[in-house]
Amino acid sequence: MHDSWDVAIVGGGILGTSVAYWLANQYEGRIAVLEKEAQVAVHTSYRNTGVVHRPFYLDPKARRVFARSAQTAYGMWKKYAAERGLPWSPVGTLEVATKPEQSSRLERYYHWGLENGMTERELELLSSEDVRKLEPHVRSLGAVWSKTDTGVDYRAFTRSLRADAEAEGVKFLLDSDVKSVTVGPDHLMINLSHAKEPVKATFLINCAGGNSVKIAHMLGVGREYADLNFRGEYWEIGKDWVNLATRNIYTVAKHPELPFLDPHWIVRADGRREIGPNAVPVFGPYIYRGFFDNPWQALEKMLEPPVMNKIALLYNRDFLTLAGEEWMSSISKKVMAGRAQEFLPELKVDCLVRPGVAGVRASVIDKKGDFAKEAIEIPGPLSFHIVNYNSPGATGSPAFAAWLIQKLSSNGYFEGLSRRPKFRSGTWDFDSVCKLVGG
Ligand SMILES: Cc1cc2nc3c(=O)[nH]c(=O)nc-3n(C[C@H](O)[C@H](O)[C@H](O)COP(=O)(O)OP(=O)(O)OC[C@H]3O[C@@H](n4cnc5c(N)ncnc54)[C@H](O)[C@@H]3O)c2cc1C
Repeated sequence: MHDSWDVAIVGGGILGTSVAYWLANQYEGRIAVLEKEAQVAVHTSYRNTGVVHRPFYLDPKARRVFARSAQTAYGMWKKYAAERGLPWSPVGTLEVATKPEQSSRLERYYHWGLENGMTERELELLSSEDVRKLEPHVRSLGAVWSKTDTGVDYRAFTRSLRADAEAEGVKFLLDSDVKSVTVGPDHLMINLSHAKEPVKATFLINCAGGNSVKIAHMLGVGREYADLNFRGEYWEIGKDWVNLATRNIYTVAKHPELPFLDPHWIVRADGRREIGPNAVPVFGPYIYRGFFDNPWQALEKMLEPPVMNKIALLYNRDFLTLAGEEWMSSISKKVMAGRAQEFLPELKVDCLVRPGVAGVRASVIDKKGDFAKEAIEIPGPLSFHIVNYNSPGATGSPAFAAWLIQKLSSNGYFEGLSRRPKFRSGTWDFDSVCKLVGG
């Protein structure tokens, strides 16, 4: 006999776990999370910078849903961390300009922050001198100071949310690697590696992070999208140099269309300082060392359809130059340190004592070879797919997930399930969260 579920969520990262929590909080039904690893939050939801980003750098129109999700989720995580005793370290971020032409962007960020709902007490524009008073070792032409950006542990958040989802009745099927999906008239048969029987589900929600495009393709949708993988590497700073800066220091993105390429100084929730991440092109979503597991995997990744998107990207000269530089920063510690010396001139190669935990970003590219900015929602047969769920995805996940469940619900996707009573206990209130993101 195979397991039979009303809804199967593929992926036990922070997104899949948040989606499972809200679905079970709102509906009665047989809900399962299929996760290929032995625990939740093993990949990007653990291997990230660990910052709750305030949305000052997100365009309120072009990135509306992510900006609102980040703004709403800030208060949600703050309350959650306090209630559960999880790390919460509000160190703040200085986004610094290092070139004269970036000053206007700082002003834009300040206004975007206010438009996205941040208050004047949370954001401040600083001159170069102001920055020096706050952080004497940092060189800049000015900054926007987001005072409430916070260091957290997203793996701890996800594991705690998993327990909440289980309390609502969700079953986590770990070590369940989805290999293929067969579409029937009113159900799906989900085939797992190393399992004799498939899993039967009436509906599937794809939250598979680095494999989400692949899963969408399995169901015959999202064929116009390809993805590329970029590994973000970090270096930990030795104890003697941690006081070079006490806040996160980010630089204004040189290429706004490729914002993940600029290096930062990061203050981790446990006080460790790191620089990174870079964005090294690698051939697969789980390549944490080297560039591929084997040459065939690299070839397979390059030839994975649609190939045209990747060919279009190869005509982007800016991208090719930058990709080359990123490869160098992976090979050479000196190159990595050099990137941060732009705003921290006293940072020497010797300050970088050991590599931190690297994470891989899966960036979706369209037919023109352009990087998609926001998460992409794709309806499919008896399924719904979220691809390109990138930064600040961990920040926004509990708000984005509630908004998604409401959207699917109002489009009739859960008609077979019975709604739970309106007012439910829990740290967060579904209706208020949805209103803040979607309103
Ligand atoms: C270097 C880096 C730094 C970042 N820093 C930040 C930050 O500071 N703040 C922030 O807000 N965001 C940050 N982000 C973004 C954030 O981490 C992601 O948006 C978020 O973690 C994505 O969560 P997810 O659940 O979609 O993906 P994941 O955490 O990757 O989860 C997907 C899950 O699906 C599972 N899966 C995949 N394929 C299958 C399959 N076939 N069968 C079953 N299960 C499968 C995987 O094992 C995985 O557990 C960063 C990202 C990167 C790469």
